[in-house]
Amino acid sequence: MINIDGSLGEGGGQILRTALALSLVTGREIRIQSIRAGRRKPGLLHQHLAAVKAAVRIGAAETHGAELGSPELFFAPQAINPGQYRFDVGTAGSCTLVLQTVLPALLTATGASEIIVEGGTHNPAAPPFDFLDRCFLPILNRMGPRVKARMERPGFYPAGGGRIVGSIEPSPALSRIELMQRGVIKTHSARAMVALLPREIAERELRTLGSKLRWGAESLHTEVIDNSFGPGNAIVVEIESEHIMEVITGFGRRGVRGEQVARETAEAVERYMSASVPVGRHLADQLLIPMALAGGGKFRTLSPTQHTRTNISVLKQFLEVDVDVSESASDDWTIGVTTT
Ligand code: AMP
Repeated sequence: MINIDGSLGEGGGQILRTALALSLVTGREIRIQSIRAGRRKPGLLHQHLAAVKAAVRIGAAETHGAELGSPELFFAPQAINPGQYRFDVGTAGSCTLVLQTVLPALLTATGASEIIVEGGTHNPAAPPFDFLDRCFLPILNRMGPRVKARMERPGFYPAGGGRIVGSIEPSPALSRIELMQRGVIKTHSARAMVALLPREIAERELRTLGSKLRWGAESLHTEVIDNSFGPGNAIVVEIESEHIMEVITGFGRRGVRGEQVARETAEAVERYMSASVPVGRHLADQLLIPMALAGGGKFRTLSPTQHTRTNISVLKQFLEVDVDVSESASDDWTIGVTTT
């Protein structure tokens, strides 16, 4: 049995999700204590419970402690059962994080899967649907499997009600990839989404973002969403280079002016564009599991986040991997995963 300390490093939900994902893949049983001890409301929230339940169904797992608020979980998978599943977070908790929990096991499973997840699609502090679809999955697909995702309805905090569908055609094994060069930036664009909110919020955001980044009107787009259950706002920026697509998102929040959301987003975009690395901050932590399962990989990225460092520690508890993290400049780091 592998004992996981949920208060390690970042102390967030990612420790739980990585542990569940790797428990499914390796078939090893786990006990996690102090779940999300680093967060304001520790323990299992709806979104984390949805991830646990998804892993239980796909892994035919025995489990204890899978309850709301639980600080501890035992999880023992018996199998990996690809197939058709529907998981409902029950709140506006992130759909993409639930999908990412079960995805590693399904990438090399014995058959195809279709996974429907209902909840939030554009949540602060989680990968928005656009990131999954345009940044993460295209890279994952370079490793062999064919994973596609579509969003049937967006879901924003607090109303939720979003729905994404992921279809997974596995490959027998994952192949090793390297992401060392970005190449030239070919296109950039920003889309300000508003659901059940005035269009002028999106227009103000794009004005601020456009003037900070010196982008012209041809790169700035407003999207008015009419099928959402509740109000929501996000700015999604796509930067397409020769070798990779980066997606950077700013999330509108109650009590925060659109101009402020646009300024924060523009700063993250400037940081990525002025570094010459291909892999952005969030993709970096999310690449580690697939690379470890592929037997290795290497990428250049911005300075590693606490999520990345924590994920490396959890990964090493399950797999015989070495992860080398080295700095060439403040925003130019190389992370190399090798199996030992
Ligand atoms: P945790 O905070 O431990 O629940 O983990 C959050 C996960 O969401 C990490 O894998 C982050 O990299 C990812 N994430 C957070 N914000 C974004 C974003 N804007 N775009 C893509 N991924 C994100």
